[in-house]
Amino acid sequence: MYQNGSSASDHPALSAFEDVDFSTAEARDVVVIGTGPAGWTAALYTARADLNPLIFMGPEPGGQLTTTTDVENYPGFPEGLLGPEMMDRFQEQAERFGTESRYGTVTHVDFRERPYRLLIDEETPVYAQTVILSTGASARYLGLENEQRLIGKGVSACATCDGSFFRGETVAVVGGGDSAMEESTFLTKFADKVYVIHRRGELRASKIMQERAFENDAIEFVWNTEVIDVLGEHAVEGIEVVNNDTGETRVMDDVTGFFLAIGHTPNTEPFEGWVDMDEKNYIQTEADSTYTNRPGVFACGDAQDDEYRQAVTAAGTGCKAAIDAERWLSEHGRAEIPTSEAERAPVKA
Ligand code: NAP
Repeated sequence: MYQNGSSASDHPALSAFEDVDFSTAEARDVVVIGTGPAGWTAALYTARADLNPLIFMGPEPGGQLTTTTDVENYPGFPEGLLGPEMMDRFQEQAERFGTESRYGTVTHVDFRERPYRLLIDEETPVYAQTVILSTGASARYLGLENEQRLIGKGVSACATCDGSFFRGETVAVVGGGDSAMEESTFLTKFADKVYVIHRRGELRASKIMQERAFENDAIEFVWNTEVIDVLGEHAVEGIEVVNNDTGETRVMDDVTGFFLAIGHTPNTEPFEGWVDMDEKNYIQTEADSTYTNRPGVFACGDAQDDEYRQAVTAAGTGCKAAIDAERWLSEHGRAEIPTSEAERAPVKA
């Protein structure tokens, strides 16, 4: 991995720019990368500030909300609404004020000096005066075929979002960290029984979270066990597990909800080595702002938040990023767009 603090002038991503002609590249004041609640909100606010933002919809347009069903915890929608519909509405609102949205994954960035250079899908060049990083995070899944097929139909990586659909039922949570403890405890508000299935014989979670789960009569721990299949055609009708000590397999056919709590991975790979990140590759921002260590580059949403991870908090930081970008741009002005590569100022190390 490219390390924080290394010299940007030898960043491995730069080789991707070598054969790309930037002489006719379009130049924008604000480029937003990622279209979850944070990205669309940043686009909405910068559009309303007349900055004509360009937003890129990457491999998972709409982000994690598109993998959930009803969203019941977003303020202002007392009846709830479907995750994908909610993201369509975010998009419609941002576009109404002049956001230009495009499909495309920002695969490489050159953040050495402004105007910053971006490559879309490894080939299309774009100049950006400011960049808002809102690429989100992806929940980790086990990678089982039926697990993927049943996402939103009983398989979920968000108990806060989907727990209430399992009132009176039996659910299983996979994981042994704080998230698994928190989510299983939360799920007992709805489900009659919650299995916590952990691959080892001891938990990774903090003592206090463990104790809370141990004291909860509705939670049953299933130790040294891994899930090898999720059963059901149109909804979860059970899970198949293997005991890691004995190799014995069995079906738990009372399980109708299957929750993953095995961590998240931030989608920040293209920005490694350009902006400071923590040990888990979440982008670091200055306290109480969305400033990264790179001038004119801002980060919001789950790409920089390992803690709250809610649509409403992501939208909030997206708003902050837009305001930060607008203020920063009016303070620092626009960098001149080079008319050709040859005329670009020499790169400072
Ligand atoms: P985590 O601490 O990385 O724990 C992930 C758990 O999933 C581990 O128990 C791990 O097992 C298990 N796991 C990983 N891959 C697996 C696989 N393929 N199959 C089966 N099990 C697998 O993640 P987290 O619980 O999401 O927590 C992330 C961070 O947020 C932590 O720093 C945590 O303290 C924090 N957090 C804090 C709170 C709170 O304070 N309220 C709440 C939630 C999260 P092993 O143990 O065997 O590796």
